[in-house]
Amino acid sequence: MKFFSRQKSFKGGIHPVEYKRLTSNLPIDKLPIPSKIILPLSQHIGAPSIPIVNKKDEVVAGQLLAKQNGPISVPIYSPVAGKVLSIGIEDTVSSFAKECITIQCTENSELNQLPKLDVDNITSTMIRDRVQLAGIVGQGGAAFPTYFKLTPPKDKIIDYVILNGSECEPYLTRDYRLMIERPNDLIIGFKLIMRALNVEKGAIGIEDNKEDAYEILNNLVQDDDSIEIFKLKTKYPQGAEKMLINAVLDREVPPGKLPLDVGVVIQNIGTAISIFEAVYWGIPQISATLTVSGLGIKTPKNLSVPIGTPIIDILDYCGGFTDKAKRVVVGGPMMGITQHNLNAPIMKATSGILVLTEEEINKVEETNCLRCGKCIEVCPVNLTPTKLARFSQLERFADAEENGIFTCMECGTCAYICPANIQLVQWIAFGKNKISLAKKAG
Ligand code: SF4
Ligand code: SF4
Repeated sequence: MKFFSRQKSFKGGIHPVEYKRLTSNLPIDKLPIPSKIILPLSQHIGAPSIPIVNKKDEVVAGQLLAKQNGPISVPIYSPVAGKVLSIGIEDTVSSFAKECITIQCTENSELNQLPKLDVDNITSTMIRDRVQLAGIVGQGGAAFPTYFKLTPPKDKIIDYVILNGSECEPYLTRDYRLMIERPNDLIIGFKLIMRALNVEKGAIGIEDNKEDAYEILNNLVQDDDSIEIFKLKTKYPQGAEKMLINAVLDREVPPGKLPLDVGVVIQNIGTAISIFEAVYWGIPQISATLTVSGLGIKTPKNLSVPIGTPIIDILDYCGGFTDKAKRVVVGGPMMGITQHNLNAPIMKATSGILVLTEEEINKVEETNCLRCGKCIEVCPVNLTPTKLARFSQLERFADAEENGIFTCMECGTCAYICPANIQLVQWIAFGKNKISLAKKAG
Protein backbone atom coordinates (compact mmCIF):
# COMPACT_ATOMS: atom_id res chain seq x y z
CA MET A 1 0.00 0.00 0.00
CA LYS A 2 1.34 3.43 -0.81
CA PHE A 3 0.62 6.72 0.85
CA PHE A 4 2.03 9.99 -0.39
CA SER A 5 1.34 13.17 1.48
CA ARG A 6 4.16 15.50 0.57
CA GLN A 7 3.24 19.10 1.00
CA LYS A 8 5.45 20.69 -1.55
CA SER A 9 5.59 24.11 -3.06
CA PHE A 10 7.80 26.80 -4.63
CA LYS A 11 9.39 30.08 -3.61
CA GLY A 12 7.28 33.26 -3.66
CA GLY A 13 3.58 33.28 -4.48
CA ILE A 14 0.54 34.67 -2.69
CA HIS A 15 -2.63 33.58 -0.90
CA PRO A 16 -5.54 35.46 -2.48
CA VAL A 17 -9.05 35.06 -0.98
CA GLU A 18 -10.29 31.80 -2.50
CA TYR A 19 -14.07 32.18 -2.90
CA LYS A 20 -14.11 28.50 -3.94
CA ARG A 21 -16.88 27.70 -1.46
CA LEU A 22 -19.35 29.48 -3.73
CA THR A 23 -19.26 26.47 -6.08
CA SER A 24 -17.08 23.68 -4.67
CA ASN A 25 -20.09 21.66 -3.45
CA LEU A 26 -22.08 22.03 -6.65
CA PRO A 27 -22.09 19.02 -9.01
CA ILE A 28 -21.45 19.74 -12.70
CA ASP A 29 -24.76 20.68 -14.31
CA LYS A 30 -25.47 20.61 -18.06
CA LEU A 31 -26.48 23.75 -19.94
CA PRO A 32 -29.43 23.18 -22.32
CA ILE A 33 -28.63 23.69 -26.01
CA PRO A 34 -28.64 27.48 -26.68
CA SER A 35 -30.50 29.02 -29.63
CA LYS A 36 -27.28 30.01 -31.38
CA ILE A 37 -23.63 29.09 -31.13
CA ILE A 38 -20.62 30.98 -32.43
CA LEU A 39 -17.49 28.93 -33.11
CA PRO A 40 -14.24 30.89 -33.51
CA LEU A 41 -11.89 29.29 -36.04
CA SER A 42 -9.03 30.14 -33.71
CA GLN A 43 -9.72 28.76 -30.24
CA HIS A 44 -6.15 27.55 -29.86
CA ILE A 45 -2.53 28.62 -30.22
CA GLY A 46 -1.52 28.18 -33.86
CA ALA A 47 -3.09 28.59 -37.30
CA PRO A 48 -6.88 29.16 -37.47
CA SER A 49 -8.86 26.12 -38.69
CA ILE A 50 -10.20 26.15 -42.26
CA PRO A 51 -14.01 26.08 -42.63
CA ILE A 52 -15.43 23.30 -44.81
CA VAL A 53 -19.11 24.30 -44.54
CA ASN A 54 -20.97 27.17 -46.17
CA LYS A 55 -23.69 29.57 -45.14
CA LYS A 56 -27.15 27.87 -45.05
CA ASP A 57 -25.65 24.33 -44.77
CA GLU A 58 -27.54 22.00 -42.41
CA VAL A 59 -25.20 20.38 -39.85
CA VAL A 60 -25.54 17.62 -37.27
CA ALA A 61 -23.95 17.40 -33.82
CA GLY A 62 -20.41 16.07 -34.06
CA GLN A 63 -20.02 17.09 -37.72
CA LEU A 64 -16.64 18.44 -38.84
CA LEU A 65 -17.02 22.17 -39.55
CA ALA A 66 -13.42 23.29 -39.97
CA LYS A 67 -10.30 21.28 -40.67
CA GLN A 68 -6.84 21.44 -39.14
CA ASN A 69 -4.55 23.95 -40.82
CA GLY A 70 -0.94 22.78 -40.55
CA PRO A 71 0.90 21.07 -37.68
CA ILE A 72 -0.08 23.57 -34.94
CA SER A 73 -3.83 23.70 -35.43
CA VAL A 74 -6.92 21.60 -34.68
CA PRO A 75 -10.20 20.62 -36.36
CA ILE A 76 -13.50 22.03 -35.04
CA TYR A 77 -16.73 20.03 -34.75
CA SER A 78 -20.28 21.20 -34.23
CA PRO A 79 -21.59 20.61 -30.71
CA VAL A 80 -25.18 20.98 -31.98
CA ALA A 81 -27.47 20.29 -34.91
CA GLY A 82 -28.57 23.34 -36.87
CA LYS A 83 -28.03 25.59 -39.85
CA VAL A 84 -24.98 27.73 -40.65
CA LEU A 85 -26.17 31.33 -40.30
CA SER A 86 -22.93 33.05 -41.22
CA ILE A 87 -19.16 32.79 -41.47
CA GLY A 88 -17.61 36.08 -40.49
CA ILE A 89 -15.87 38.23 -37.91
CA GLU A 90 -17.33 38.22 -34.37
CA ASP A 91 -16.13 39.31 -30.93
CA THR A 92 -14.63 36.50 -28.83
CA VAL A 93 -13.76 36.15 -25.15
CA SER A 94 -10.06 36.54 -25.99
CA SER A 95 -10.66 40.31 -26.49
CA PHE A 96 -9.94 39.94 -30.22
CA ALA A 97 -12.58 39.68 -32.93
CA LYS A 98 -12.02 36.52 -35.00
CA GLU A 99 -13.55 34.68 -37.90
CA CYS A 100 -16.38 32.49 -36.60
CA ILE A 101 -18.96 30.00 -37.87
CA THR A 102 -22.36 30.89 -36.39
CA ILE A 103 -25.00 28.17 -36.19
CA GLN A 104 -28.70 28.54 -35.53
CA CYS A 105 -29.40 25.52 -33.35
CA THR A 106 -32.31 23.22 -34.13
CA GLU A 107 -33.54 20.22 -32.18
CA ASN A 108 -30.56 18.25 -31.11
CA SER A 109 -29.67 15.28 -33.31
CA GLU A 110 -27.81 12.22 -32.16
CA LEU A 111 -24.08 12.88 -31.91
CA ASN A 112 -22.04 11.89 -34.94
CA GLN A 113 -19.26 9.95 -33.19
CA LEU A 114 -15.68 9.40 -34.27
CA PRO A 115 -14.89 5.86 -35.52
CA LYS A 116 -14.72 3.23 -32.76
CA LEU A 117 -11.24 2.29 -31.53
CA ASP A 118 -10.00 -1.09 -30.32
CA VAL A 119 -9.20 0.22 -26.84
CA ASP A 120 -7.88 -3.15 -25.61
CA ASN A 121 -5.11 -3.07 -28.19
CA ILE A 122 -4.48 0.65 -28.36
CA THR A 123 -1.01 1.95 -29.28
CA SER A 124 0.65 5.30 -28.62
CA THR A 125 0.20 6.24 -32.31
CA MET A 126 -3.50 5.42 -32.17
CA ILE A 127 -3.92 7.65 -29.09
CA ARG A 128 -2.06 10.59 -30.63
CA ASP A 129 -4.02 10.23 -33.90
CA ARG A 130 -7.30 10.18 -31.98
CA VAL A 131 -6.34 13.28 -29.95
CA GLN A 132 -5.51 15.06 -33.21
CA LEU A 133 -8.72 13.94 -34.94
CA ALA A 134 -10.84 14.98 -31.92
CA GLY A 135 -9.45 18.54 -32.00
CA ILE A 136 -8.38 18.50 -28.36
CA VAL A 137 -6.56 21.52 -26.95
CA GLY A 138 -5.00 22.03 -23.51
CA GLN A 139 -7.59 23.28 -21.06
CA GLY A 140 -5.17 24.98 -18.70
CA GLY A 141 -5.54 28.36 -20.41
CA ALA A 142 -3.04 28.48 -23.27
CA ALA A 143 -5.12 26.17 -25.53
CA PHE A 144 -2.10 24.56 -27.14
CA PRO A 145 -3.06 21.71 -29.53
CA THR A 146 -2.69 18.57 -27.38
CA TYR A 147 -1.61 16.37 -30.29
CA PHE A 148 1.42 18.58 -30.78
CA LYS A 149 2.26 18.46 -27.07
CA LEU A 150 2.05 14.66 -27.14
CA THR A 151 4.55 14.56 -30.02
CA PRO A 152 7.76 16.09 -28.58
CA PRO A 153 10.83 16.52 -30.80
CA LYS A 154 12.94 13.36 -31.06
CA ASP A 155 15.90 14.96 -29.24
CA LYS A 156 13.80 15.65 -26.11
CA ILE A 157 13.65 12.71 -23.72
CA ILE A 158 10.44 12.86 -21.68
CA ASP A 159 10.44 10.74 -18.52
CA TYR A 160 7.57 12.26 -16.53
CA VAL A 161 4.02 13.46 -17.12
CA ILE A 162 2.38 15.71 -14.54
CA LEU A 163 -1.35 16.23 -14.37
CA ASN A 164 -2.12 19.66 -13.04
CA GLY A 165 -4.77 19.32 -10.35
CA SER A 166 -3.78 22.44 -8.44
CA GLU A 167 -6.48 24.77 -9.83
CA CYS A 168 -4.83 27.65 -8.01
CA GLU A 169 -6.91 30.53 -9.44
CA PRO A 170 -9.51 31.73 -6.89
CA TYR A 171 -13.20 30.90 -7.58
CA LEU A 172 -12.55 28.09 -10.10
CA THR A 173 -13.76 24.63 -9.07
CA ARG A 174 -14.31 22.78 -12.35
CA ASP A 175 -11.11 20.70 -12.08
CA TYR A 176 -11.95 19.87 -8.48
CA ARG A 177 -15.44 18.69 -9.50
CA LEU A 178 -14.03 16.61 -12.37
CA MET A 179 -11.53 15.00 -9.97
CA ILE A 180 -14.20 13.97 -7.47
CA GLU A 181 -17.03 13.23 -9.93
CA ARG A 182 -15.06 11.37 -12.62
CA PRO A 183 -11.90 9.97 -10.99
CA ASN A 184 -11.91 6.70 -12.99
CA ASP A 185 -12.27 8.47 -16.35
CA LEU A 186 -9.54 10.87 -15.26
CA ILE A 187 -7.05 8.14 -14.38
CA ILE A 188 -7.78 6.30 -17.66
CA GLY A 189 -7.27 9.59 -19.56
CA PHE A 190 -4.01 10.17 -17.69
CA LYS A 191 -2.76 6.68 -18.54
CA LEU A 192 -3.60 7.31 -22.20
CA ILE A 193 -1.43 10.45 -22.06
CA MET A 194 1.43 8.49 -20.49
CA ARG A 195 1.01 5.76 -23.12
CA ALA A 196 0.95 8.30 -25.96
CA LEU A 197 4.29 9.67 -24.75
CA ASN A 198 5.73 6.23 -23.89
CA VAL A 199 6.40 7.50 -20.38
CA GLU A 200 6.32 5.21 -17.35
CA LYS A 201 6.05 7.74 -14.52
CA GLY A 202 3.20 10.11 -13.86
CA ALA A 203 2.21 12.42 -11.02
CA ILE A 204 -0.87 14.42 -10.16
CA GLY A 205 -0.29 17.60 -8.14
CA ILE A 206 -3.28 18.68 -6.04
CA GLU A 207 -3.42 21.69 -3.69
CA ASP A 208 -4.21 20.88 -0.06
CA ASN A 209 -7.51 22.78 -0.21
CA LYS A 210 -8.89 19.80 -2.20
CA GLU A 211 -8.35 17.11 0.41
CA ASP A 212 -11.15 14.82 -0.79
CA ALA A 213 -9.93 14.92 -4.41
CA TYR A 214 -6.50 13.96 -3.12
CA GLU A 215 -7.93 11.08 -1.07
CA ILE A 216 -10.13 9.74 -3.88
CA LEU A 217 -7.35 9.73 -6.48
CA ASN A 218 -4.75 8.43 -4.03
CA ASN A 219 -7.01 5.48 -3.17
CA LEU A 220 -7.58 4.76 -6.85
CA VAL A 221 -3.88 4.45 -7.66
CA GLN A 222 -2.82 2.67 -4.45
CA ASP A 223 -1.74 -0.46 -6.29
CA ASP A 224 -0.35 1.35 -9.29
CA ASP A 225 3.33 2.20 -9.00
CA SER A 226 3.34 4.30 -12.17
CA ILE A 227 1.28 7.18 -10.70
CA GLU A 228 1.96 9.26 -7.58
CA ILE A 229 -0.40 11.83 -6.12
CA PHE A 230 1.27 14.87 -4.54
CA LYS A 231 -0.37 17.17 -2.06
CA LEU A 232 0.81 20.72 -2.72
CA LYS A 233 0.53 23.84 -0.59
CA THR A 234 -2.36 26.09 -1.55
CA LYS A 235 -0.60 29.05 -3.04
CA TYR A 236 -0.92 31.12 -6.21
CA PRO A 237 0.45 30.39 -8.89
CA GLN A 238 1.03 26.76 -7.86
CA GLY A 239 -0.49 25.60 -11.16
CA ALA A 240 1.95 27.50 -13.39
CA GLU A 241 3.98 24.90 -15.27
CA LYS A 242 7.38 25.90 -13.91
CA MET A 243 6.11 26.10 -10.32
CA LEU A 244 4.38 22.74 -10.58
CA ILE A 245 7.46 20.97 -11.95
CA ASN A 246 9.57 22.52 -9.23
CA ALA A 247 7.13 21.51 -6.48
CA VAL A 248 6.56 17.94 -7.68
CA LEU A 249 9.94 16.94 -9.10
CA ASP A 250 12.43 19.50 -7.73
CA ARG A 251 13.44 20.28 -11.32
CA GLU A 252 14.11 23.88 -12.40
CA VAL A 253 12.98 24.99 -15.85
CA PRO A 254 15.59 27.61 -16.84
CA PRO A 255 14.41 31.01 -18.14
CA GLY A 256 13.42 30.78 -21.80
CA LYS A 257 13.11 26.98 -21.65
CA LEU A 258 10.08 24.70 -21.69
CA PRO A 259 8.97 21.79 -19.46
CA LEU A 260 10.11 19.34 -22.14
CA ASP A 261 13.64 20.70 -21.76
CA VAL A 262 13.65 19.11 -18.29
CA GLY A 263 11.93 15.92 -19.46
CA VAL A 264 8.37 16.80 -18.44
CA VAL A 265 5.01 17.19 -20.17
CA ILE A 266 2.18 18.81 -18.21
CA GLN A 267 -1.47 18.26 -18.97
CA ASN A 268 -4.61 19.64 -17.43
CA ILE A 269 -7.42 17.71 -15.70
CA GLY A 270 -10.03 18.66 -18.32
CA THR A 271 -7.67 17.65 -21.13
CA ALA A 272 -7.26 14.15 -19.66
CA ILE A 273 -11.06 13.80 -19.47
CA SER A 274 -11.41 14.96 -23.10
CA ILE A 275 -8.82 12.39 -24.17
CA PHE A 276 -10.72 9.66 -22.32
CA GLU A 277 -13.98 10.70 -24.05
CA ALA A 278 -12.37 10.85 -27.49
CA VAL A 279 -10.70 7.42 -27.20
CA TYR A 280 -13.41 5.48 -25.34
CA TRP A 281 -16.60 7.24 -26.42
CA GLY A 282 -15.62 8.71 -29.81
CA ILE A 283 -16.55 12.26 -28.74
CA PRO A 284 -14.59 15.15 -30.28
CA GLN A 285 -13.94 18.24 -28.12
CA ILE A 286 -17.32 19.93 -28.40
CA SER A 287 -17.96 21.04 -24.83
CA ALA A 288 -16.19 22.86 -22.01
CA THR A 289 -16.61 22.38 -18.28
CA LEU A 290 -16.48 25.71 -16.48
CA THR A 291 -17.27 27.46 -13.21
CA VAL A 292 -19.70 30.38 -13.16
CA SER A 293 -19.13 32.28 -9.94
CA GLY A 294 -18.67 35.59 -8.14
CA LEU A 295 -20.90 37.62 -5.85
CA GLY A 296 -22.45 39.30 -8.89
CA ILE A 297 -24.23 36.20 -10.26
CA LYS A 298 -27.45 34.98 -8.65
CA THR A 299 -26.89 31.20 -8.85
CA PRO A 300 -23.24 30.17 -9.18
CA LYS A 301 -22.71 26.81 -10.90
CA ASN A 302 -20.26 24.32 -12.33
CA LEU A 303 -21.45 23.66 -15.86
CA SER A 304 -20.81 21.58 -18.95
CA VAL A 305 -21.45 23.89 -21.89
CA PRO A 306 -21.36 23.46 -25.70
CA ILE A 307 -18.37 25.36 -27.06
CA GLY A 308 -19.51 28.47 -28.86
CA THR A 309 -22.26 29.30 -26.36
CA PRO A 310 -22.56 33.07 -25.85
CA ILE A 311 -21.65 34.23 -22.32
CA ILE A 312 -25.07 35.83 -21.89
CA ASP A 313 -26.91 32.49 -22.31
CA ILE A 314 -24.77 30.97 -19.57
CA LEU A 315 -25.33 33.92 -17.23
CA ASP A 316 -29.09 33.76 -17.86
CA TYR A 317 -29.09 30.05 -16.98
CA CYS A 318 -27.37 31.02 -13.71
CA GLY A 319 -30.20 33.43 -12.81
CA GLY A 320 -28.60 36.61 -14.16
CA PHE A 321 -26.85 39.43 -12.31
CA THR A 322 -27.29 40.52 -8.71
CA ASP A 323 -27.73 44.24 -8.03
CA LYS A 324 -24.05 44.58 -7.19
CA ALA A 325 -22.62 43.06 -10.39
CA LYS A 326 -19.86 45.27 -11.81
CA ARG A 327 -17.56 43.28 -14.06
CA VAL A 328 -17.64 40.05 -16.10
CA VAL A 329 -14.34 38.20 -16.41
CA VAL A 330 -13.65 35.06 -18.44
CA GLY A 331 -11.08 32.81 -16.75
CA GLY A 332 -9.90 33.26 -13.18
CA PRO A 333 -9.59 36.65 -11.47
CA MET A 334 -5.76 36.63 -11.67
CA MET A 335 -5.25 35.89 -15.37
CA GLY A 336 -8.77 36.23 -16.76
CA ILE A 337 -9.98 38.75 -19.33
CA THR A 338 -12.61 41.43 -18.65
CA GLN A 339 -15.47 41.16 -21.13
CA HIS A 340 -17.10 44.02 -23.00
CA ASN A 341 -19.49 42.04 -25.20
CA LEU A 342 -21.59 39.39 -23.46
CA ASN A 343 -22.58 37.89 -26.81
CA ALA A 344 -18.99 36.64 -27.19
CA PRO A 345 -18.83 32.82 -27.14
CA ILE A 346 -16.91 30.61 -24.73
CA MET A 347 -14.13 28.53 -26.29
CA LYS A 348 -12.52 25.11 -25.86
CA ALA A 349 -10.19 26.24 -23.07
CA THR A 350 -12.59 28.50 -21.15
CA SER A 351 -12.35 27.61 -17.46
CA GLY A 352 -14.76 30.05 -15.87
CA ILE A 353 -17.00 33.08 -16.06
CA LEU A 354 -16.89 35.40 -13.05
CA VAL A 355 -19.30 38.17 -12.27
CA LEU A 356 -17.53 40.37 -9.76
CA THR A 357 -18.78 43.13 -7.48
CA GLU A 358 -16.95 46.28 -6.37
CA GLU A 359 -16.04 44.51 -3.12
CA GLU A 360 -14.30 41.68 -5.03
CA ILE A 361 -12.58 43.95 -7.52
CA ASN A 362 -11.24 46.03 -4.65
CA LYS A 363 -10.51 48.99 -6.86
CA VAL A 364 -8.18 51.53 -5.29
CA GLU A 365 -6.36 54.45 -6.85
CA GLU A 366 -2.87 53.87 -8.21
CA THR A 367 -0.12 55.74 -6.35
CA ASN A 368 3.65 56.00 -6.76
CA CYS A 369 5.81 52.98 -5.99
CA LEU A 370 6.39 52.71 -2.23
CA ARG A 371 9.60 50.74 -2.72
CA CYS A 372 8.26 48.11 -0.34
CA GLY A 373 9.77 45.24 -2.33
CA LYS A 374 6.67 43.06 -1.94
CA CYS A 375 6.39 42.41 -5.68
CA ILE A 376 9.97 41.11 -5.71
CA GLU A 377 9.32 38.89 -2.70
CA VAL A 378 6.34 37.14 -4.29
CA CYS A 379 7.48 36.81 -7.91
CA PRO A 380 7.80 33.04 -8.39
CA VAL A 381 10.41 33.39 -11.13
CA ASN A 382 12.67 35.82 -9.25
CA LEU A 383 12.06 38.93 -11.31
CA THR A 384 11.98 42.55 -10.16
CA PRO A 385 8.50 43.48 -11.42
CA THR A 386 8.68 47.12 -10.35
CA LYS A 387 11.82 47.61 -12.42
CA LEU A 388 10.43 45.81 -15.47
CA ALA A 389 7.23 47.87 -15.37
CA ARG A 390 9.23 51.07 -15.05
CA PHE A 391 11.52 50.15 -17.98
CA SER A 392 8.43 49.44 -20.11
CA GLN A 393 6.81 52.74 -19.10
CA LEU A 394 10.01 54.60 -20.05
CA GLU A 395 10.30 52.53 -23.25
CA ARG A 396 13.74 51.34 -22.13
CA PHE A 397 13.09 48.00 -23.78
CA ALA A 398 16.72 46.83 -24.00
CA ASP A 399 16.98 47.21 -20.19
CA ALA A 400 13.68 45.38 -19.75
CA GLU A 401 14.94 42.50 -21.85
CA GLU A 402 18.24 42.38 -20.03
CA ASN A 403 16.33 42.14 -16.75
CA GLY A 404 14.35 39.09 -17.94
CA ILE A 405 11.03 40.56 -19.11
CA PHE A 406 10.38 37.46 -21.24
CA THR A 407 10.67 35.20 -18.19
CA CYS A 408 7.50 36.84 -16.84
CA MET A 409 4.51 34.52 -17.26
CA GLU A 410 2.00 37.31 -16.54
CA CYS A 411 0.60 35.43 -13.55
CA GLY A 412 -0.52 38.65 -11.87
CA THR A 413 0.98 37.79 -8.47
CA CYS A 414 3.00 41.00 -8.24
CA ALA A 415 0.08 43.24 -9.19
CA TYR A 416 -2.16 41.49 -6.66
CA ILE A 417 0.22 42.17 -3.78
CA CYS A 418 1.23 45.73 -4.77
CA PRO A 419 -0.09 48.18 -2.12
CA ALA A 420 0.27 51.05 -4.60
CA ASN A 421 -2.03 49.21 -7.03
CA ILE A 422 0.42 49.71 -9.89
CA GLN A 423 -0.64 47.92 -13.08
CA LEU A 424 2.59 45.95 -13.13
CA VAL A 425 1.42 43.14 -15.42
CA GLN A 426 -0.13 45.48 -17.96
CA TRP A 427 3.12 47.41 -18.20
CA ILE A 428 5.19 44.25 -18.48
CA ALA A 429 2.85 42.84 -21.14
CA PHE A 430 3.06 46.17 -22.98
CA GLY A 431 6.87 45.99 -22.94
CA LYS A 432 6.91 42.37 -24.16
CA ASN A 433 4.50 43.21 -26.95
CA LYS A 434 6.54 46.22 -28.09
CA ILE A 435 9.80 44.25 -28.09
CA SER A 436 8.20 41.38 -30.04
CA LEU A 437 6.73 43.75 -32.63
CA ALA A 438 10.06 45.50 -33.06
CA LYS A 439 11.81 42.13 -33.57
CA LYS A 440 9.23 41.02 -36.14
CA ALA A 441 9.64 44.29 -38.06
CA GLY A 442 13.38 43.48 -38.13
S1 SF4 B 1 3.41 38.69 -13.44
FE1 SF4 B 1 5.54 38.31 -14.04
S2 SF4 B 1 6.75 39.70 -12.78
FE2 SF4 B 1 4.71 39.59 -11.84
S3 SF4 B 1 4.89 37.94 -10.34
FE3 SF4 B 1 4.13 36.95 -12.20
S4 SF4 B 1 6.01 36.27 -13.24
FE4 SF4 B 1 6.68 37.76 -11.68
S1 SF4 C 1 4.92 46.04 -4.61
FE1 SF4 C 1 4.28 47.91 -5.66
S2 SF4 C 1 4.84 49.53 -4.26
FE2 SF4 C 1 5.97 47.72 -3.58
S3 SF4 C 1 7.96 47.85 -4.68
FE3 SF4 C 1 6.61 46.63 -5.96
S4 SF4 C 1 5.72 48.13 -7.36
FE4 SF4 C 1 6.56 49.30 -5.66
